[in-house]
Amino acid sequence: MKKYQLMAPGPTPVPSEVLLAMAQPMIHHRTPQYETLFVEVRAGLKKVFQTEADVLPLACSGTGAMEAAVVNTLSAGDTVAAIRAGKFGDRWVEICRAYGVNVVELAAPFGHSVPAERVAETLRTHKGVKAVLTQHSESSTGVLHDVRGYAAVTRGTDTMLIVDAVSSLGIADLPMDAWGADLVVSGSQKGLMLPPGVAFCALGEKAWAAAKTSTLPKYYFNLAEERKAVVKNEAHFTPAVSIIVGLREVLRMIETEGLRNVFKRHDRLARATRAGVEALGLELFAKATPSPALTAVAAPKGVDSEKVVAAYSKTHNITIAGGQGEMKGKVFRLGHMGYAAEFDVIVALAALEQVLSDLGQPVDFGASIGAAQKIFAEKS
Ligand SMILES: *Cc1c(COP(=O)(O)O)cnc(C)c1O
Repeated sequence: MKKYQLMAPGPTPVPSEVLLAMAQPMIHHRTPQYETLFVEVRAGLKKVFQTEADVLPLACSGTGAMEAAVVNTLSAGDTVAAIRAGKFGDRWVEICRAYGVNVVELAAPFGHSVPAERVAETLRTHKGVKAVLTQHSESSTGVLHDVRGYAAVTRGTDTMLIVDAVSSLGIADLPMDAWGADLVVSGSQKGLMLPPGVAFCALGEKAWAAAKTSTLPKYYFNLAEERKAVVKNEAHFTPAVSIIVGLREVLRMIETEGLRNVFKRHDRLARATRAGVEALGLELFAKATPSPALTAVAAPKGVDSEKVVAAYSKTHNITIAGGQGEMKGKVFRLGHMGYAAEFDVIVALAALEQVLSDLGQPVDFGASIGAAQKIFAEKS
């Protein structure tokens, strides 16, 4: 028997108490029971998004919320600027182009980021840019983009800042209102420790004003209609009831741990993972600020990273992730977000040592574990 461990950068493991909550008999969504549930979920979501705005849950994957952000605030022929430094940056560009929105690409090589100053310069040289679109945590490269810096640029202008926080909500600090992000999207299956199937959109005043004039087609993802339902503690269409039930449990867990402590935990897990990986002589893929959600590791010379992923799975029954697109074969990614704790990092690193050794790499056994434990021994 090999115990299964899910250590990919999403979907992430679901805690047992959440699984049990979701195993309750189905309830109808137009009932007082659902209303009671949603009142609690609605309040909890505002805290996790750190906003006064209502957070709108949608029954879809994270990409659905990205598409909803675009179709509700923009019109065909509008121009936006998009941070493009990974596969999820590509996704913003592809969604916008699919709807006839012009994109000024703020590109950086994968593993790097785009400084806020470049965003400011783009807004100076391109007049009338409606929005800046970015990831917070770019999960394909393991980089954390400077959302705070971008928000400082767009704040007080007519340009919106639209943030994909799918792999940063409940992982890295993103105070939506305090920083001035105008639209934040996220999903259920990363930091929120839930099955995939629910995504979220939170719109600030600037985004709601843009929604008034947006002419892109929308029906299922009409957020103005969704908000009308949400303020009545309802859902416009049938919600993913079981996941919303699980979400209440997750929000309680986050409240108990404290949002600050949740961020601290992720920071420690990420620092320990990086220290462990580097202690084995491996190179981090992220050359800019690394994400606390996952660690992207460059495959050692002569080793196909797909082989590392396959060995984790075959030999240890652990799922990690490889590289996407042009990073395939070059990168493997270890997730440490959501329901993840210190000894999960130790397991991932111990397995890494064995995997590398099996692949014929020289390994100083225990080196990565010791490096990680030194981080855990630090008094925070
Ligand atoms: C996981 C993820 C998404 C959403 O992907 P889906 O497969 O549609 O849920 C979007 N952006 C980032 C940064 C992600 O990590």
